[in-house]
Parts: sequence; structure tokens; C-alpha cells
Amino acid sequence: MNHFELKGGELWCEDTKLSRIAETVGTPVYIYSSATLERHFNVLRDALVGAGVVEPLIAFAVKANPNVAVLRTLARLGAGADTVSEGEIRRALAAGVPADRIVFSGVGKTAEELAFALEAGVAEVNVESEPELEILDRIGREKGVRAAVAIRVNPDVAAGGHAKIATGKADNKFGVSFAEAERLYARAMNMAGVRAIGVACHIGSQITDLRPMEEAFFKMRGLVQRLRAAGLPVERLDLGGGLGVPYFNQPDPPAPDEYAAMVARVTSGLDVSLAFEPGRMIAANAGVLIAKVLHIHERPEGRRFLVLDAAMNDLIRPAMYDAYHHIRPVEPRAGEVGPYDVVGPICETGDTFTRDRDLPPLEPGDLVAFMSAGAYGAAMSSEYNSRLLVPEVLVRGEQFAVVRPRPTYDDMLSRERMPVWFEDPQ
Ligand SMILES: *Cc1c(COP(=O)(O)O)cnc(C)c1O
Repeated sequence: MNHFELKGGELWCEDTKLSRIAETVGTPVYIYSSATLERHFNVLRDALVGAGVVEPLIAFAVKANPNVAVLRTLARLGAGADTVSEGEIRRALAAGVPADRIVFSGVGKTAEELAFALEAGVAEVNVESEPELEILDRIGREKGVRAAVAIRVNPDVAAGGHAKIATGKADNKFGVSFAEAERLYARAMNMAGVRAIGVACHIGSQITDLRPMEEAFFKMRGLVQRLRAAGLPVERLDLGGGLGVPYFNQPDPPAPDEYAAMVARVTSGLDVSLAFEPGRMIAANAGVLIAKVLHIHERPEGRRFLVLDAAMNDLIRPAMYDAYHHIRPVEPRAGEVGPYDVVGPICETGDTFTRDRDLPPLEPGDLVAFMSAGAYGAAMSSEYNSRLLVPEVLVRGEQFAVVRPRPTYDDMLSRERMPVWFEDPQ
């Protein structure tokens, strides 16, 4: 459920008209609903706690939506943060996420980033390889601390909505095998700069079937038991993120209650503290991208193009993952639906949001909303074609705030420098 609804013939976000925001801030613009972010977080937490999970650490995957106001909204509810770079750790801290709820994941952490994470006092570094463990150990010893480590395992199950977002097969770059995990865990116990506290997995994104998750979690349970049988203590089991959301053209994702019941069943009696890293399921349906119709271009041979002022640089998921976003007019006109190819202004054929989509009648100047754009939307935006970075707005009831303003062209140009050899000779 989300808080983008038609009221009196037009789309609102909570108690704010989307058209009012577009008038004030211009388009394209991302708009997020505080109430929806909060609802999704609470629904997941309540489901887990209701199923018997004691004090779960729910670490929002910052990469899904790194805006500090979004992070603050979740931090106030007790969310932690799952981070994959120093930049994300800094964002989480700036948003008020306590360091002891920050998880540092990722296959390619640099020594500088690891040192920063230890200084910040993050809760857990999810180590993805032996060389990384060795570097972290060295940094820990230099700083005189033992870094809390979870070994990220690749459980070798297939899951996820698209090959580019499946992470849990043995041939993906993420994590180590079960056998490696046992060896590394034992090795970590004998290192002075790290302290193995647990194991972690994350098998993919936009997962709409609980079975691969259950299979992976069951394997993780076995790992915890084998480690303990070998005399190694295990406090933490991090089950990652990956729960899918309804994008309208895909199978319905499992309800949070079903997910929580499965987790409780698979981990029952294990006596570990559980961590979760949801991104998409919290943020996707809490955000929309609003664009304006620039032109309607009808080819004599039949195709009809809806040319928008938003482009693939603002929302790359359709071009990158063949992703489907529901498109709704902000102020729908009466009339028959008909097919449009919905495109942006960028000089690439890939700048096509969708083809042959049936939409109600539209006119130049009308606003449309790309639904479910709150995760991996603005987060993946760029200035390709020297288009200004898309702004972001956060709504709370009747209030809205620009939480990332649209830069000016001067801002854009001022980041660049001419090399000395272009200076005029005197
Ligand atoms: C991307 C990612 C997540 C979040 O995935 P969602 O599908 O958005 O829930 C969680 N953990 C790790 C390690 C990730 O890389």
C-alpha cells in the first residue's frame, strides 16, 4: 500500500497535490512519501517481531535511496543502514543513523574505506573475500581494535527478477562458498585485528518467490550449526535484502508476514541476532518520478511517441533492467486509452521507457507519474547529455520540502576546470 492516490480527479501524495509540487519545483522531479516509507518499515518490523524475531536489526540498503532526508525518516523509526561505500556510511551518519546500526557490505572496499568504517565504529563489516579479511585485520591491529566481521556467503541459489540483479549464484562476484566461509571464520578467530561475529548472505533483488530465499536461509542455518559444532561462536545472522515489490507486470511479491513467518521457521531455536538489509521493499513504492509531456509525435505509419522531459539519465531502470514502471497521468483526462511509445529526449534508442503502452489521452503540458520509482531511481541518476541532476522532494502530509534541489547550469559548469595549457600566453 502507498500514499499516492487519486482524489477529486487528480493524483496526490498524502495530502499534497503532485501538480502543486511540479508547479513549484518544475519537472522532472522525484517525490517521496514519508508515510509510505514509514509504513513499509513498520510493516516489516511488525511482521518480524510478530513472528517471534527478537530485536531484528533492519538496516535499510542506502544504495536504493541515499537521500539523507529519506534516511533520517527511517532512522527515526530505529532503522539501521546497509552501506557499500564510505560515501554511504557518511550519508547514514549525517542522517542520524547510529554507527552501531550500520553494516558495511560490498565486494571492493578499499583500505581507506575500511579504516574509515572502523573509526566510525560501524556495527559489522561484511567481508566478502580472504584478501579483504587480511586487510581489515591489518587495519584493526594498526588501530588497536578488533573489527566485528560477518563472512558473506554466496549460497549458490538462483533468485531475483533479472540477471543483472541476481547475486546469489556461485558464478556471481559476491561472497565466498560455504567451505571457504568455515575456513575464513576459523582464521578470523585467530586474528588480532578482527572478531568474527557472524555470517551474512544477500541473494538478489526483486525476489517474488520465497522458495530460493528459504533454501538459502536454510543453508545459512546449517553453516551456523557447523561453525558452532567446530567450537566457533556465532552471534549474528544477516539475511540480506531482496524482497520484491509489485511493479504491476510481475508476480505479486510475498507479503511481509509470509516472509517473516518463513524466516522465523528457518531460524527457530538458532539463538542468533538477525539482521536484514531491505532496500527496494521500503523505498520503491514510496516514490514517483513526475515528468511533463513535451510533444506527442505521431508517425504517419502508425507509431505514436510520447516525448517527456524526463529521460534515462533520471530513471535508468527501464533501459538497464528492462524494468516496468506503471505510468499514470497526474490529472487524467476522460477518453479511450491508446498505445504510446514513451520516450525521453536523450540521443539513444535506449532512452525509451516503454513501447506500446496503453495510456489515457494526453496533451503537451500534461504531467505523468512513473510509479514505484522511489528505489534505484534518483539513486542511479546522472547528468548524461548535460541534463541537470533531477531534484528530490519529500512530502509529509500537507507539507513538502525540496530535499535535493535542482542544480543550476552554473553549478554544473563550476565543477570543471580548464588545464593550464589553455591559459592565454602573456
Ligand atoms: C542491494 C543490496 C541490498 C538491498 O537489496 P534490495 O533488493 O533493494 O532489498 C541489500 N544488501 C546488499 C548486500 C545489497 O547489495
